[in-house]
Amino acid sequence: MIQGLLDLLFSPQCVICGETRGDGTGDGICHTCRSQIGYITSPLCHRCGLPFIPESGIDHFCQDCLQSSLFFVIARALGRYEGGLKEAITRFKYQEKITLGEHLGRIMVQGMYPGLSFSLYHVLMPVPLHPKRLRERGFNQAAVLASQLSRRYRIPLDLFSLRRIRPTESQIHLGFHERRKNVKGAFTLKDAEKVQRKNILVIDDVYTSGATVNECAKVLMKAGAARVDVLTLARAV
Ligand SMILES: [Zn+2]
Ligand SMILES: [Zn+2]
Repeated sequence: MIQGLLDLLFSPQCVICGETRGDGTGDGICHTCRSQIGYITSPLCHRCGLPFIPESGIDHFCQDCLQSSLFFVIARALGRYEGGLKEAITRFKYQEKITLGEHLGRIMVQGMYPGLSFSLYHVLMPVPLHPKRLRERGFNQAAVLASQLSRRYRIPLDLFSLRRIRPTESQIHLGFHERRKNVKGAFTLKDAEKVQRKNILVIDDVYTSGATVNECAKVLMKAGAARVDVLTLARAV
C-alpha cells in the first residue's frame, strides 16, 4: 500500500519501457511490459524446461535430453528470451543497469517454476564470470539475480566456491556441440567441501544451449554435490 502511494506521488517510470507506471506493484515494471513477458509454463521438458508447442498436453522429455548427458536434474526459466525480456536483459548487462537487474530479480522471485521447490536447496550459486570480464562489467549479472532469490527464500548465496578459470569466447554464433567444447574446463571449485552433499541451485541470466550451466553442474557433481538444478531468468526457445 505504501509503495502504491509512493508510486502515485512520485510517478516512477517503468524500468523496461520508461513509461510512467503507477500500478502499485512496486517492482518497477509496468503492467504492459509485465504482460508481454512470455512466461514459460507446462507442457515443458521435465529436464531442461523447454516449452512445447502446442501449449496443451503433459510434460515429457525433449529429444535433446533423451540423447545427451546432463549433470543437472532440472532447469527452469521464468520467460522466453525474446521481446521486452530480452531487451531488458541486454540493457541490464551491457548498459550496466544494476537497478534494472534487481527489478528483474524480483520478477524472478515471483515466478512459478513447475517441478522446482526452493525449500530443497542448501545454497544458490550464480554462474561466475571470469575475473577479467567481471572487472570490465563491474558486476556479475547472475549474482545480482541470485541475491534477490537468496533474500526472498533465505537460501545462502555462495559467490566464491565456483570459479571461472578460462575466459570463454562469446557463444552467440556457436552451435550446441561447439558451445559444449567452448566451456569445457572453464570452471573449477575453490572449496569442494562446501558443495559436498548439498542440493545446489545454479542461477544464470539466460539458458541458451544449457552448455554453460551443465559444465557448472558437472564440476559440482564431480566434487560430491547431492543434486544440482538450474534456474535462469530467460530461456532461448
Ligand atoms: Zn513498461
Ligand atoms: Zn529437454
